[in-house]
Amino acid sequence: MDFKHIPHPAPVPGETRAEAIADPGFGKIFTDHMVVIDYDADKGGWHSAKLCAREPIALDPAAAVLHYAQEIFEGMKAYHHPDGSLGLFRPEQNARRFNASARRMAMPELPEELFLDSIKLLVGVDGGWTPTIDGGALYLRPFMFASEAFLGVRPARQYKYILIASPVGGYFKGGAKPVKIWVSRNYTRAAPGGTGAAKTGGNYAASLVPQSEGIENGCDQVVFLDAVEKKWIEELGGMNLFFVFDDGTVITPPLTGTILPGITRDSLVHLLREEGLNVREEPYSIDQWRADAVKGNLIETMACGTAAVVTPVGSVVGPDGEFSIGSGGTGQITHKLREKLVGIQTGAVADPNNWVVKL
Ligand SMILES: *Cc1c(COP(=O)(O)O)cnc(C)c1O
Repeated sequence: MDFKHIPHPAPVPGETRAEAIADPGFGKIFTDHMVVIDYDADKGGWHSAKLCAREPIALDPAAAVLHYAQEIFEGMKAYHHPDGSLGLFRPEQNARRFNASARRMAMPELPEELFLDSIKLLVGVDGGWTPTIDGGALYLRPFMFASEAFLGVRPARQYKYILIASPVGGYFKGGAKPVKIWVSRNYTRAAPGGTGAAKTGGNYAASLVPQSEGIENGCDQVVFLDAVEKKWIEELGGMNLFFVFDDGTVITPPLTGTILPGITRDSLVHLLREEGLNVREEPYSIDQWRADAVKGNLIETMACGTAAVVTPVGSVVGPDGEFSIGSGGTGQITHKLREKLVGIQTGAVADPNNWVVKL
């Protein structure tokens, strides 16, 4: 499919842009352009692909997404490489997962090639927005929503795919500082048969009240337990978890449909195995977590995702009070793994699995 290219009539001047990306924060500033592709089931599917100025979109107040939340998204980053190019990390995985989410939300799939073309196109025109600061990247946010004006409850017949980009620094203030985790007892994130494995906005909407509860209790993030037994650790609101033991075993909760299959998670499983660690994808309970941390055989816990990369969990506030993980600081394996993953993503270390796609 050809993209109609409509350049921005008044892009942000270079100087202003340089100032903005010197300390961008996370998700607060945006680049000059966006990609839009429309879908109409009655007009043969995807059509009218364009690269244009980033601007507000006109939406009918009856657009189905505003009523029934038919929406999915992805999150990925373009990184500066030492040779001056920009690189993506496993972008084909995002394309594939976008379509897995689409299927679960009864939305049309976007051909993987079209997804990847849109990414390359936007990074091509707005790559100059990529921060050069340590930990900086151009965060890419592809999303799709039901735009049909119709209040009946059924899958919409019209959708919009949009891609925007946002220069980012670190996700958490304070960089890779250990985070404090709140165990949500009153709320769950996803139930068996639900939408937990789809990257859809509703999962995030449902996580906001428990997230506020966590913040009121002095925590940074929330860990969700399974909805059936309220016993098994699932994930944070937007990050997967790994538990590291003193005998070289690492546990991460299995992908049973209630957890988002993170690309960072999958990459860490590979990297940990390459390091000779024994990675097991199996259920791990909240009570065991506490017992193992107190006993000292659980030495590290890390949270991972595209936005925050690899972040150490320093302490946990549960119904029986607080416990810390190891010394409460950043563990050796967490540190080493973060360096390795960031090194691969930024071209500083070898990429034997060919995960990086240079642009
Ligand atoms: C996106 C996301 C993750 C992390 O996935 P990555 O592909 O590693 O960025 C984890 N959990 C949830 C709920 C997510 O939405």
